[in-house]
Order: sequence, then structure tokens, then C-alpha cells
Amino acid sequence: MQELTIPKDMRAWSRAERARGRRIGFVPTMGFLHEGHLRLLDRAKERADRVVMSIFVNPLQFGPQEDLTQYPRDLERDRKLAVERGVDCLFVPDTSAMYPTEPLVRVSPGPMADTLEGAARRGHFAGVLTVVAKLFHIVEPDLAVFGRKDFQQAMLVRRLAADLDFGLEIDVAPTVRELDGLALSSRNTYLKGDDRRAALALSRALRAVEQTWRGGEADPRALVRRGMDVLTAPSVTPEYLALVDDQMRPVSRADAHSVVVIAARVGTTRLIDNVVLGEGVAGDISVRA
Ligand code: AMP
Repeated sequence: MQELTIPKDMRAWSRAERARGRRIGFVPTMGFLHEGHLRLLDRAKERADRVVMSIFVNPLQFGPQEDLTQYPRDLERDRKLAVERGVDCLFVPDTSAMYPTEPLVRVSPGPMADTLEGAARRGHFAGVLTVVAKLFHIVEPDLAVFGRKDFQQAMLVRRLAADLDFGLEIDVAPTVRELDGLALSSRNTYLKGDDRRAALALSRALRAVEQTWRGGEADPRALVRRGMDVLTAPSVTPEYLALVDDQMRPVSRADAHSVVVIAARVGTTRLIDNVVLGEGVAGDISVRA
């Protein structure tokens, strides 16, 4: 596995591979890898000839009160997992390589970023789309794979690529969960003691909404009430539970394409999760973590 830290070396590697006719797949991450990230790699490997993974904890997408400095990191372990899972090139720039000067020009994510995560985390998606745009220009992939776990992010990246003509394919992969339903997340490492069990309220609420919808209820208000009943549990502070379409607009009637999105604080840890009603939590991937 090649490991690169300098953007121009990364671009040169990609250009050399493409000159040999190879299709390049790309999986951007913030590291502290888990099986959710690794499944994105598997998909990229199936759909491309060479796979690049980036590890970069992007300061631009963290608010001043957020966990940038505490964000979990373990490059040694990540490197091992990347090799084992067949990464061809690991791109690990440091902050000064990505932002030699404070970027004055940034991507404006538009109305899809005004709600949900975008409302709770002001400036978050401008930071995400700015770094994703930079990474796309540096890696020049043919395909990039993102997780549906971060549904709003994945849909915004899709629109970034389409609306600004990046000329690459965006693949959105199903959420990977532990056997008990908890969606894998690097931030799960913050869940101590009883909070790990309390965190199951999120996936339980998603299942409850899904079952109620399958039972014939299509009124989003009734579905949200049902979900909120289940989400409300000791140590869990719900932030939002909503039914939206792929542009984050509230739906007036729930159908198979509607997505139930949830955010809640469990103890001091903020978690998000979602389910596409027609696919269901059972349509996601379960793994023994
Ligand atoms: P992160 O390192 O948290 O920025 O995530 C990097 C990529 O992995 C993003 O596209 C995420 O949506 C994706 N991802 C994170 N957790 C999961 C999961 N449990 N299942 C599927 N994809 C995930």
C-alpha cells in the first residue's frame, strides 16, 4: 500500500493510474476505522480497479464547541486495517497540507443544509462540502463511496457532484450496524457504561416508525409521535425525528422512499441514525463488532 501525505503527490499517483486505464474508487474518512468504513472500501473495490482511502479530521466541519481535539484517532491501527482490506493508496494529509492558508472561498451547500444536522451544527456542511470538493480535486476519482449512515451528508455530496459537474459517480452504501441495531460510528467509543445500552433507543425508534408505517400509517405526524415515544428514554435527549425526502424536505405522506432521520444525545454523546422506510432497518448490514 502506498501512503501519501502531500496533495500534489496524491494527484500524481491518481493521474499515473488513470493513464494506465485504471478506474479509481475513493473512500474519504476521518479515520478511527470500523466495519462501516471497511464496507465502503469493499464496494469501491468491486466497482473500481484502484482504491484510495483518505484519513483527514477536517477542522472546517467542527463547530467551536465540538469534539475536534478529542475526536478519536489511531493511525497505526487504521493503516493495518487499510492494508488488510486492500487499500491501494492511503492519503493522510495534515491540516497544513490541506489548508496552507485559511480558505477564503468555500462551498455554499444551499437549502438542503438549512435543516436537521445543518441547523444543529451551523457551518458543518459548508465545511464538509469544501473538504470533499478539495479531496475530489486532489484524488480525481471516477467513483466515490459514502455511507447512508450520514444521510444528509450523502445527499449533499450527490448534489455537489451533480450540480457542480464534478464528473464522478457517487455511490451511497447501506448503514452497517452491530447485531443489536446500534449503527457503527467512530463516536460510539465515547459511550461509556449504561450509555451503550441507552443508545439502542435510536435504532429502536427507527424500527417502531417503520413497523407503524408497514401497518398502514402514512401520516408523518403520527409516525413522528410513535418514534418519539420510543426514543424518549432515560439518558436519551431527542434532538429531532423527522420524515424527509432526498432533499431533506418534510414529506406530507410517508412512502417507501421516505427517510426517517434521528438525532439524539445519549449522555454527552450526540448520535445520528436513519432508515429508508421501504428498505427497513433489516435492509441495512449487521455485523458482529
Ligand atoms: P467518518 O469517518 O465518520 O467521516 O465517515 C466516513 C464515511 O464512512 C462516511 O461516508 C460515512 O457516512 C461512512 N460511515 C460511517 N459510519 C458508517 C456506518 N455505520 N455504515 C456505513 N457507512 C458509515
